[in-house]
Amino acid sequence: MQPDDFAPGTVWLVGAGPGDPELLTMKAVRLIESADIVFHDALVGASILSLIPSKTETVSVGKRSGRHSKDQRTIDAMLVEAAAAGKRVVRLKGGDPSIFGRSAEELTALREAGYSVYICPGITTACAAAASAGISLTLRGVARDVRFVTAHSRRGAALDIDWNSLAGGGSTLAFYMGREAAGAIMRGLMLAGMAGDTAVMIACHVSGPDERRLTTRLDLLELATRSFAADAPTLIVVGAAVAQAEAAPVGLRNAACSPRSTFM
Ligand code: SAH
Repeated sequence: MQPDDFAPGTVWLVGAGPGDPELLTMKAVRLIESADIVFHDALVGASILSLIPSKTETVSVGKRSGRHSKDQRTIDAMLVEAAAAGKRVVRLKGGDPSIFGRSAEELTALREAGYSVYICPGITTACAAAASAGISLTLRGVARDVRFVTAHSRRGAALDIDWNSLAGGGSTLAFYMGREAAGAIMRGLMLAGMAGDTAVMIACHVSGPDERRLTTRLDLLELATRSFAADAPTLIVVGAAVAQAEAAPVGLRNAACSPRSTFM
C-alpha cells in the first residue's frame, strides 16, 4: 500500500512484534508516527511506546490475562468512536495481530460500522523466540508443521485442547498464554503419549532486555516454569525442533543466544 493509505477515519491494526523496537516493520513505524491516536495493549513495552510522537493521543487498553482493564466490546466501541471522529487510528498489538490478538472482533466492529480497517503484520513471539534461541521451528523430516496453541482458559475451567492431535509428534507446538497452564500442558501431552524427554523451551520477555530462556524436558515443564515470574509474558515451545539448541556446538550456541540456562 502507498503512503496515502491512512486517510482520516481509517484504522490500522498494527503488529508491534515481541518487544524489541528493531523488530517493528518500517510500515508499523510509519503508521505509529502518522496516527492521531494510538490504542495499545499491555504487552507493548515502553521502548516501542516511546516511538509515538508526544503530540499523539495514547490510550492504554491494557489487556493482560486475569487483569482485563477494558473488555473487548469497550475496546471495539472506542476504536469505532475514534474513527467516527475522523481520526487516523492505530491499534497497536503485541506480536502479530492475527495470532491470539482478538483482531477479528475489532475488524468486524469497524467494518460493520462502515470504516476502513487494515492490518500491518508483526513478528509473532514464537518466531522471535526461535530466533533468539538460534533454532528453526520446522525441521526437515522431523518437525513438519508448527502449531500456535492458546493455553488460556477462563479462570478455573479446564483447557479445551485436543491433546491427541498435538501429541503425535512431527509438530512444533508453541503455547501462548501457557505460564499458568504448564502443568496441564505437561500432563495433557504425556497422557496422550508424548515422551517425557521431549525437548521444551520456556521463554519470557522474548527480544527484550529481560529475556530469559530455559531448555528442559517435557516431564520437568511444570517444575521449570515455576522459576519464571508469574506476570512475565511467557511462551512454551515443545518438540524436537527445540533440541537443536542443545545440539549446536558451544561456540555457535553462544553466538546465537543471549543469556540462557539449561535445566535437565
Ligand atoms: N499476538 C501475540 C500474542 C498475544 S497472546 C503474538 O503474536 O505474539 C499473549 C501471549 O503471547 C502471552 O501470554 C505470551 O504467551 C506471548 N507473548 C507475547 N509477547 C511475548 C514475549 N515478548 N515473550 C514471551 N511471550 C510473549
